[in-house]
Amino acid sequence: MATGWVWHERFGWHDTGTAGGFLRGEFIQPLQHVESPESKARFASLVEVSGIAKALKRIEIMQATEEDILRVHTSEHLEKMKALSTDIRGGDMGDGVSPFGFAGVDLARLAAGGTMSVLRAVVEKEVDNAYALVRPPGHHARPETGMGFCMFANVAIAIAYGRAKLGLGRVAVVDWDVHHGNGTEACFEEDPDVLTISLHQDGNFPPHTGKVADRGTGAGKGAAINIPLPAGSGEGAYLHAFERVVLPAIERFKPDVIMVASGFDSSNADPLGRMMLVSNSYAKMTRRLMDLADSLCGGRLVISHEGGYSPFYVPFCGLAVVETLSGVKTGVQDPYQEYWKDLPGQTLQENQKALVAQVAEACGL
Ligand code: ZN
Repeated sequence: MATGWVWHERFGWHDTGTAGGFLRGEFIQPLQHVESPESKARFASLVEVSGIAKALKRIEIMQATEEDILRVHTSEHLEKMKALSTDIRGGDMGDGVSPFGFAGVDLARLAAGGTMSVLRAVVEKEVDNAYALVRPPGHHARPETGMGFCMFANVAIAIAYGRAKLGLGRVAVVDWDVHHGNGTEACFEEDPDVLTISLHQDGNFPPHTGKVADRGTGAGKGAAINIPLPAGSGEGAYLHAFERVVLPAIERFKPDVIMVASGFDSSNADPLGRMMLVSNSYAKMTRRLMDLADSLCGGRLVISHEGGYSPFYVPFCGLAVVETLSGVKTGVQDPYQEYWKDLPGQTLQENQKALVAQVAEACGL
């Protein structure tokens, strides 16, 4: 079998306009909004020019239907996005910093559909595992609103589709984006059959969510795990969190499939994060999840792209993950490896270890 791959030219057409970072102000000369096509399109380019595209199985994208969207989102949110999408000036996803252009709802439905499509391909054994490079991202979108550059909750919509149409039972989601996967968590906060684990920079975005004590509600109590790592965490902290919390929590949960909300804004080069992961760190986390998926759920690992705002570094992080998933080595070297291999603070620090211990204790691990 093979590794599935999704990318569509139209993901580059999602138009976020101009901003200073993600804000507008009378004293900042406008430049491209930080959530632009640059990092994702370059990741797709590197998959092509490295030659690895030939070894991947391109998965045909189905567009998410309204029924698919409504398994997760309110009809008010969907109708609002549809109405704004008919305006030639576009609209905003819900929080004032997440603009989209004309027909934006169709691109967001394509992004959710891209994630649904790779999940289907893996569940139906068309491929072993898969990466969906989609845009706009999804992990901040809540049932009733978009936020944080996310219109619809791509991963949550895929899970709901998988459970409704593919006979999927329990799903574990690991979110290594530097920001809290608040939307995915909110979509399943009362659901005991979806385990959401978010590793993120404490207090980054959204500023007040994703705390250790946030564990889900009602019947879903315990099925949400938050690992709010201190700013400056590097590979040592992430791998320690994996060994101490992420892997044992998934092992205990026994999912039918493992999904990843893959943001490369936890890298050392990101303008919206203050973490220090390098491309090989993502390869290592992928390898660990592959091994776990092999032992728990027939190797079923499905990755959907989220954030990552460094146009020059995201491509190398992405390629490292795709090489690991497929077992194909392209020989392309991460050119930054040489400069960042001895970064101070990459090893596990005491404050990071203490935070992970706190999470482990809260989870009974
Ligand atoms: Zn992010």
